[in-house]
Amino acid sequence: MIPIEDALKKILSYVDVLQPEEKPILDSMGQVLCEDVYSAISVPPLDNSAMDGYAVRSASTAGASASNPVILRVIGEVAAGSISDVTVEPGAAVRIMTGAPIPEGADTVVQFEHTDEEARSASGRPLDEIGVLYETPVNLNIRRAGEDIKKGDLVLKKDVVIRPQEVGLLASLGRATVRVIRRPVVAVLATGDELVDVGEPLPPGKIYNSNTFSMASQVYRYGGIPRILGIATDTTDALWNKISEGLDADMLITSAGVSMGDYDVVKDVLARHGQIAFWTVRMKPGKPLAFGTLNGSNGRKVPHLGLPGNPVSSMVSFEQFARPAILKMLGRKLLAKPTVSAISESRIMNKDRRRIFTRVFVRKDGDKYYANSVGPQGSGILTSMGQANGLMITPEDAAYTDIGDTATVQMLDWTEDQL
Ligand code: AMP
Ligand code: MG
Repeated sequence: MIPIEDALKKILSYVDVLQPEEKPILDSMGQVLCEDVYSAISVPPLDNSAMDGYAVRSASTAGASASNPVILRVIGEVAAGSISDVTVEPGAAVRIMTGAPIPEGADTVVQFEHTDEEARSASGRPLDEIGVLYETPVNLNIRRAGEDIKKGDLVLKKDVVIRPQEVGLLASLGRATVRVIRRPVVAVLATGDELVDVGEPLPPGKIYNSNTFSMASQVYRYGGIPRILGIATDTTDALWNKISEGLDADMLITSAGVSMGDYDVVKDVLARHGQIAFWTVRMKPGKPLAFGTLNGSNGRKVPHLGLPGNPVSSMVSFEQFARPAILKMLGRKLLAKPTVSAISESRIMNKDRRRIFTRVFVRKDGDKYYANSVGPQGSGILTSMGQANGLMITPEDAAYTDIGDTATVQMLDWTEDQL
């Protein structure tokens, strides 16, 4: 049994940041930018109105008040997307919509509410004139050209992770594609004679293959592309046949076949067609875990993570080892799962001094987090993963975590902000 940190270090030493690719911006979410993005344009490109109102010369509004409106001639109208061809002279106004470019001559915008337009329309008076009710200083309600971004500005720096706001920013520059580190392809294989595909009838003695789907979903969630290889039966030949189909992936993940059982063939295949780096990790659930490399074509060493078969062990081990490996390949710098300090509401015994990951529900009360075990912690009880939003850690050197103790909890997700 090796410590989690050593296992992770070993795994990460076998994976590298992948190559860049040019991606449509919407498909680049979660990927890491590998270019500095400069703007070829100013945003906004022209001075424009921040309000619906009237573009005027500030001087034309001198002395205006509600009891003594200044009457201006309305010489045109301009909506967002068009350019006015009139020049605003003293005493003139152009009706202007939000986002419309400021016409020549105007130096301020009087918002509708500061004119008598509504009263005028209501009483049927013509709108070829408008009464301004307030003196309006220059530059009011005007968004200046380049106020957000100036042509030539460095807008996004290399290494930024693309989120919705970055996608929007790229779009605001007119960029349809962007250069990012490509997503890792992760081949996923389930092993076991007892497994049946979803959608099929369930014969006696068999169970549905759920691990493929939880693992593939985890690959998706952390930005990889799962390639599902299906189910291999518990013979070295069957396993190697299936694995061979996944050797061009960036990483291969198998589930089951790594414990002490007679039919646990993953280790045999690793030994025969590659190199085992380690096997068994000081954690619970998830002690049986094989890692090594398989011999791909052209001498390529394909990292292979052999996760335990129990559905919870598989998911928890994925979080600890596959997630950081995927993130590293994606070029991400922060590989650790986010944690909070929480007050334990459960007593967890640590009998054989492994690091225990207890499925908990974390809630916030005032400024403190509380973590409560979600119930039975058997490594086959997948429903408990469904009830959990975190994994509470009992360290290897602690005999227990007591009620009231402060514990570190890895957040699987934030209940308020799923996915
Ligand atoms: P093993 O590591 O092969 O000893 O499997 C441990 C436990 O996990 C056994 O109860 C298996 O039936 C179960 N198991 C293995 N693979 C899967 C899978 N793909 N989906 C659901 N359960 C599985
Ligand atoms: Mg098995």
